[in-house]
Amino acid sequence: MSATQETHQFQAEAKELLNLVIHSLYSDKEIFLRELISNASDACDKLRVAALTDDALLAGDDTFKITLDVDHKARTLTITDNGIGMNAEEIVSNLGTIARSGTKAFAAELAEAKGSSPEDLPRLIGQFGVGFYSAFMVADKVTVESRHAGQEGGVRWHSEGLGEYSVEDIDRPERGTQITLHLKPKDGEDERYQDFTQETVLKGAITKWSDFVEYPIEMEVERYEGEADDRKMVSKTEQLNSMKPMWTRDKAGISDEEYAEFYRHISKDWNEAFAHVHFRAEGVHSYTALCYLPSKKGMELFDPSHLESKVQLFVQRVHITSECSELLPSWLRFVHGVVDSDDLPLNISRETLQHSRQLQQIQKRLVKKLLETMGKMLKKERKAYTQFWGEFGQVLKEGVWHEDGYRGDVAKLCLFPTSNSLGNDDSEDMGFTTLGEYVSRMPAEQESIWFLSGVDEKTLRSSPHLERVNGQEVLFFTEIDEVAMSKLEDFEGKKLVALDKGEVELDDATRESLESRAKELKKLLKAVKKSLGDAVEDVRLSARLNESPACLVAGENALPPQLAAMLRAQGQNMPEEKRVLELNPDHALISRLEELRSNDKERFNDTCELLHGQALLAEGSNLPDPARFAKLLTGQLAV
Ligand code: ADP
Ligand code: MG
Repeated sequence: MSATQETHQFQAEAKELLNLVIHSLYSDKEIFLRELISNASDACDKLRVAALTDDALLAGDDTFKITLDVDHKARTLTITDNGIGMNAEEIVSNLGTIARSGTKAFAAELAEAKGSSPEDLPRLIGQFGVGFYSAFMVADKVTVESRHAGQEGGVRWHSEGLGEYSVEDIDRPERGTQITLHLKPKDGEDERYQDFTQETVLKGAITKWSDFVEYPIEMEVERYEGEADDRKMVSKTEQLNSMKPMWTRDKAGISDEEYAEFYRHISKDWNEAFAHVHFRAEGVHSYTALCYLPSKKGMELFDPSHLESKVQLFVQRVHITSECSELLPSWLRFVHGVVDSDDLPLNISRETLQHSRQLQQIQKRLVKKLLETMGKMLKKERKAYTQFWGEFGQVLKEGVWHEDGYRGDVAKLCLFPTSNSLGNDDSEDMGFTTLGEYVSRMPAEQESIWFLSGVDEKTLRSSPHLERVNGQEVLFFTEIDEVAMSKLEDFEGKKLVALDKGEVELDDATRESLESRAKELKKLLKAVKKSLGDAVEDVRLSARLNESPACLVAGENALPPQLAAMLRAQGQNMPEEKRVLELNPDHALISRLEELRSNDKERFNDTCELLHGQALLAEGSNLPDPARFAKLLTGQLAV
């Protein structure tokens, strides 16, 4: 019943854009499907909303769906929806021009960008909706048939993408839009060619990009059915998307099981999540975020190629990217989740993502919420939090080291073993303390937060350095603790001080007595230094020790020896930093050494070497020559 067929020119800017889209914009061809499905889903949304006030529009059919049909012979792919549809006027204005607000601004910017580099174009285009045109990446002819819900007739739009399109009236019995793509043939050696008549290719693209679209995306597929001798091919309808945009639903209506299932879906982690954060932000930018803190770490946590965060970004329920590193800092890379923005453009490019102020603002809010959630868990579920810390603390601590403004907040969430606890015990806090708790226990006369770094908690518990503080509490740092915490100048006004570094501040009386003792033992100290040679920087008397005979002390700014050793093992060029051997002036070994110094030179040297060796052992360091140490020791025992 076609009346007239009119031929139109694309609006000038649309033509240029078309060219860009076809030739340079999208590297991933399959996203044309994402764009068309997103349009179909928008059309269903629009009708659903319109029907709220005028349910005659539905004409009794309120089940929305999107259908894919393939014609292998004709090599066409058809995408049909039963959404709002378009009449002739709408189809011309929507598909013949770059629709809506952007037209003029876009034309201006495009003119300006003409002379500029091609890298600018994606950024530019990212700001404008050009979704429909992406059909021309895979098709050389596109036919759209549509009927606006509640209106008569119908319209057919057809274009070969070369600057012209035609429009004619048709009789279309059903509401909604049907887009038929005449797929381009494989172009020579194109290795990335995907055949969009293949079920697997379509299914793959849908799962990747449109899994959470709210309407079923259906397709007729052929399947064998029946037993061995009675097998026949049957056609059946299958749904390609899982259709669960859970995050858009009201929190109150979502069960724990649904949260858990969704977590499994996005994380592929079969352990239960530790906690989740789900919120909707309205205002300048509107978006929904649903993020999970896992309870068990995955293999990739310290894989150098996976150090970025991996929250998924959606725009209006359409998947944009599964690893959007702009949404969270790297020290929250263990978080799984989705952010669904209402206002970002659907075809936002990588480049645009990196510089998007909007994403930066989302990140800020998201980090704040996640830190708050961890803080809440720390307070309310101490044991579970401590286990969580055991899995992810090492990564989270990187947040104290980073310069991104969360240092103090992350420090509050850090847990450490301390000299006051018995280690991994059964109590609620499992023997771990926060900096805040430590400070609240500090006696009035204690000025600093003491810490000691070493390979492990067990070694630290028996370190001679603990003697310096006479039973005051000491935090035990292992792993990267000292490096991370070194950025934290103070906590609640208290400085963090390493027990094994620098000189001890003494009151006058103590200092004087130590100095006069040093004078008496001047010859001995010199002889020990001479005997140890290059192994130590110097030898002096100690104000840190009660029971141990000796300890090794580093310079104020030295790296912890274990960390230096670790970096060296990784092939980094770390100069050997020599340390000072401090002797306990009140230890019986001093008079023994004095004796040997004048009577038995050889045994004196051996004893000095043993003393140095045992100081290394006591702090958990490796001996330079364990076999030699054993031999010297046996020699001493045998006498
Ligand atoms: P955007 O989706 O960002 O608006 P598109 O180029 O993807 O840009 O689509 C342009 C316009 O064409 C849409 O805004 C919509 O009005 C119309 N349109 C496209 N596809 C459909 C469809 N399946 N049903 C109804 N309208 C559609
Ligand atoms: Mg669109």
